[in-house]
Amino acid sequence: MNHVLPERKDASPAYKWHIEDYYASDSNWEETFAALQKKLPEMTAFSGHLADSAGTLLDCLKKNSEFALTLDQLYTYASMRLHEDSANAFYQGMAARGEMLLIQYSATVSFLSPEIISIPEEKLASFRKELSKEFKIYDHYFHSLLRQKEHTLSPAEEQLLAKTSELGGAPQNIFTMLNDADIRFPMITDADGVETELTKGRYVTFLESPDRRVREEAFKALYSVYLDQKNTLAATYSASVKSDVFFAKARKYDSAMEMALSDDNIPLSVYDTLIETVHENLPLLHRYVDIRKKELGVEELHIYDLYVPLVSEADVKISYDEAKNTVTKALHVLGEDYIKALGTGLNSGWIDVYENKGKRGGAYSWGSYGVHPYVLLNHNDTINSMFTLAHEMGHALHSHFTWEKQPYLYSGHKIFVAEVASTCNEALLMEHLLNATEDKKMRKYLINYFLEQFRGTLFRQTMFAEFEKITHAMVEQGEPLTWECMNSIYLDLNKKYYGESIVLDEEIEIEWARIPHFYNAFYVYQYATGYSAAIALSRKILDEGKPAIDAYLDFLSKGDSEYSIDLLKGAGVDLSSAEPVQKALSLFRELLDEFEAL
Ligand SMILES: [Zn+2]
Repeated sequence: MNHVLPERKDASPAYKWHIEDYYASDSNWEETFAALQKKLPEMTAFSGHLADSAGTLLDCLKKNSEFALTLDQLYTYASMRLHEDSANAFYQGMAARGEMLLIQYSATVSFLSPEIISIPEEKLASFRKELSKEFKIYDHYFHSLLRQKEHTLSPAEEQLLAKTSELGGAPQNIFTMLNDADIRFPMITDADGVETELTKGRYVTFLESPDRRVREEAFKALYSVYLDQKNTLAATYSASVKSDVFFAKARKYDSAMEMALSDDNIPLSVYDTLIETVHENLPLLHRYVDIRKKELGVEELHIYDLYVPLVSEADVKISYDEAKNTVTKALHVLGEDYIKALGTGLNSGWIDVYENKGKRGGAYSWGSYGVHPYVLLNHNDTINSMFTLAHEMGHALHSHFTWEKQPYLYSGHKIFVAEVASTCNEALLMEHLLNATEDKKMRKYLINYFLEQFRGTLFRQTMFAEFEKITHAMVEQGEPLTWECMNSIYLDLNKKYYGESIVLDEEIEIEWARIPHFYNAFYVYQYATGYSAAIALSRKILDEGKPAIDAYLDFLSKGDSEYSIDLLKGAGVDLSSAEPVQKALSLFRELLDEFEAL
């Protein structure tokens, strides 16, 4: 960057989001905040009375939605204001107060779910019959809640479990402290010959360095630190798995995996089918490794050679306006309704485009029901930035279509489907760009971008998912998790996934010890299933046109008013079968073919 970043107040208004769409002024926020705080006792008053009458239960649910929505808007506005400039002391205070109210509110309504679950079945059924019209929209809400009935314990047991939950979170806490606060990495020599302290953030950049010596040095330095702590890290992770298993047993689930997946009612077969289908297709990943080896012209391909881009970013500048145009053109295949909504999103103050002093990094889509979606970007005229725009607009329009059709109750998206719309947009943009360019270097760059996404999202996350499955099963069978056995499991998985052509430097064995997501068990597989679903959907949209588009828009408008697996089935993607993952992987094969031909 050759220019100094502007202050927030000097940034061009044409490229700022219209955050005033929330509250015309900060004093409106203050008034709303004070009013909600005053009204909180109205919620407390329902506690212990939900079984009194159908009317009381309905009032409580309605009031909860109303208060939660107001809170959502207060919290989001304050946070987004802070994201505009993190150094702004006024908004630091406002965001902190928003968060405080959020915590206070969840404590206030914590009685709600357990109390509804404890209403005798016949009584609840008669309430729902009595006010059947009013309760209609709560059908899925009740179904989802009552599924947990058989896993809910007596009040005394629940109280005891609630008190142990802090202990259950301890392993993650300890890991975070060690990994984010206490661990220090050594100095390494960067590509310019300068001694630089290795950090987790810089590690990613070092591994992308064209200078192989830098990659190797960073890799060995990083893992030497984890290897030094291997006993502690194994004990910490083992405690985390034991805690998962303990809570699952206490709640009468057959396994920790069953408990984790039951949250969104995902059948266990989805998890196993993902792993099996990826296994069947591992020769494709081995082929990719071979291509990498050839392309980099190295005698031995090491683990630290996996992240360096095979093709440097094509030297093209894409202005924000051009990116908007191209993304719009690419998404034309989604039909008029989508394009109309996209146009509104791109031109009505949803987006905060450029970087300014103190602005939050990266990109996201957020906003509140009742206002409209917002998108934060840090656009810098690269191809990457254009993909980010397509991605975030995918999230934003998912919310837009959902908010148009659903009550606040179902306005969110579960993790299982959350990345589908964003990734589908990226895939459609990719297709458009590939169709539009004959330039060999550009095509190679684009295909490489795509191949890397497959490797990082579909293959790598499935390998992680498999590791978690093995470690939890071991603890469930009473076997100890030592660093020796975890290193050996991890090495075997790497061998299986990456194949014969790669040299597995021994340091890679300890990689499991640095993955924060492992402390949130059975979570990452959703990146792989979500990615597969998005790719499968993009293919359907391109191949089948109208019927596929209609089903897709219907999916976008449903929020979380149904279980994720059913939402995707409605859009034509059945993740209980191998088909979507298979379909995604056949695209990976086609891309490999073309990359080789180039
Ligand atoms: Zn995303």
